[in-house]
Amino acid sequence: MAAMSHHDSARKQLKPRSWGGRDDVVIVGGGLAGLFCALKLSPSPATIVTAAPIGQGASTAWAQGGIAAAVSEGDTPEAHARDTVAAGAGLVDEGVALAMAREAPARVADLLAYGVPFDKDLAGHLVVSREAAHSARRIVRVKGDMAGGAIMAALVAAVRATQSIRVLEGGLIEEIAMQDGRVRGIRARLSHAGVDRLVTLPARAVVLATGGVGHLYAVTTNPPEASGQGLAVAARAGAVLADTEFVQYHPTAIAIGRDPAPLATEALRGEGAILVNRAGERFMPRLHADAELAPRDVVARGVFAEIAAGRGAFLDARAALGTAFAERFPTVHAACMSAGIDPARELIPVAPAAHYHMGGVAVDARGRTSLSGLWAAGEVACTGAHGANRLASNSLLEAVVFAARIAEDIAALPPVPAAAGDATPPSVDVALPGPRAHDGDLRKLMSANVGVIRDAAGLTHALREIARIEREATAPALRHKATAALLIAAAAWRRRESRGAHERADHRQTDPAQAQRTFITLAEARAIADDVSARPDARARAEAVTAHAGGRR
Ligand SMILES: Cc1cc2nc3c(=O)[nH]c(=O)nc-3n(C[C@H](O)[C@H](O)[C@H](O)COP(=O)(O)OP(=O)(O)OC[C@H]3O[C@@H](n4cnc5c(N)ncnc54)[C@H](O)[C@@H]3O)c2cc1C
Repeated sequence: MAAMSHHDSARKQLKPRSWGGRDDVVIVGGGLAGLFCALKLSPSPATIVTAAPIGQGASTAWAQGGIAAAVSEGDTPEAHARDTVAAGAGLVDEGVALAMAREAPARVADLLAYGVPFDKDLAGHLVVSREAAHSARRIVRVKGDMAGGAIMAALVAAVRATQSIRVLEGGLIEEIAMQDGRVRGIRARLSHAGVDRLVTLPARAVVLATGGVGHLYAVTTNPPEASGQGLAVAARAGAVLADTEFVQYHPTAIAIGRDPAPLATEALRGEGAILVNRAGERFMPRLHADAELAPRDVVARGVFAEIAAGRGAFLDARAALGTAFAERFPTVHAACMSAGIDPARELIPVAPAAHYHMGGVAVDARGRTSLSGLWAAGEVACTGAHGANRLASNSLLEAVVFAARIAEDIAALPPVPAAAGDATPPSVDVALPGPRAHDGDLRKLMSANVGVIRDAAGLTHALREIARIEREATAPALRHKATAALLIAAAAWRRRESRGAHERADHRQTDPAQAQRTFITLAEARAIADDVSARPDARARAEAVTAHAGGRR
């Protein structure tokens, strides 16, 4: 198997050339996309720079479902691609979806070779299960809901055992270093012994694999590191982004005030748990024929509307599971019990939570961004595979498919010529506030105005406020978060229709004339923000009208 030979050769090879040269490959992010890319590159040297120690601070470690791959008898990549296209609400790049589905079995074989213990039957065949909107059983899992943790454990061990991979933990990318119109490396903040240093890591290739944007929102299932930093640095360097308005919300995060919010997995509804409001009324049957088993975005909007109307939303598993809850869903049970809720006897409060970003840095079939020398993989990238809504368990798949293609692309590159006057900027100690800068206002702003249901007035308000935060932020981390938020809000403002995960209360219909992917640069997003800021404030006007009408009464 290809992966086995790569890995084995990596184990056997001698210590790589000295680190940190101009011909290094710098991979930013140590989740599935970053680790897999580094392993595929070996024995060529690569440096992984990651905010958290590898294995932590990555959404990958928390994945409960698994990886979609047409590996069972009777299933085909064509059927997998059809389901992917249907989920994406008219915006999936069909060629990308089909190629991804075709490469899925080989990438699952790679993961097995790296030591991921996917569930198998007695005959040694992979066990596959079914998930919503998949027409066949095609989710490869590990011990039920343990896929993410097991994948990370195996890949972290493989990376640690591969001499060609250097890992710099506690490193935050702050900037992409450009020279002569191409990417030459990154500027990163490295924390060591209480001191932050801003260092330049030169590279012939930079791979962004920084994950998603959940922490731009007040309620999210993502780890704190998923805060759009990769999007921001790419956009600031001039890269084109795609489909940034499309953020998927998980309908049933457990609303017990924890950040990030624990998940009440969709499987609970699959087992018959129902959604009710505070009065005990089921609200999904009147919204969709499939009620609680409707598509994820429909359920998220139903939950959101009940909460917005002050009626609250709760998952009721009492009749469906009762005393079997603890044994069948131990993770969810433990989360509930820690908040004093016994799900066998009580209702579980739920809320929609920012979960997955379909949009990202636009890449082509090789994972190349619009900037020469910059690639992107995993959730930070936008390949066109997800369109306006992601099919469950396609994100881990997309991460491995594109990470592998990127490694192949970089390996085949000719040496990069040195830039004129090529000089590495010196490292400097920095005292600026680091990642923990206060972002509460931004997160509330995003949830309230750029969340499950959006409209022009809310988006206008958000764009102005985000632009102000971006301008005034002194901490680079907050400034980057605001930049990422701006890119999402501007694209959401521009798309005047409802499609997939993007719901506009002021444009409820899907408009066939807008069935195209959107591409946006930071300059364009800023122009949109400037434009709306120059207009009279729609929200203030609406409030003034209401106050005026109230005064007359
Ligand atoms: C609770 C949960 C359950 C999920 N379940 C599934 C599932 O069953 N199936 C599925 O396909 N998908 C699932 N997803 C989505 C999937 O897990 C992610 O899309 C995928 O893991 C993303 O992988 P990644 O490598 O791109 O990012 P991540 O795994 O998030 O890794 C990102 C890495 O970048 C680092 N980083 C971030 N910012 C910086 C910075 N500025 N500088 C340096 N490093 C940085 C982080 O520390 C981390 O190492 C789930 C997501 C969540 C949150």
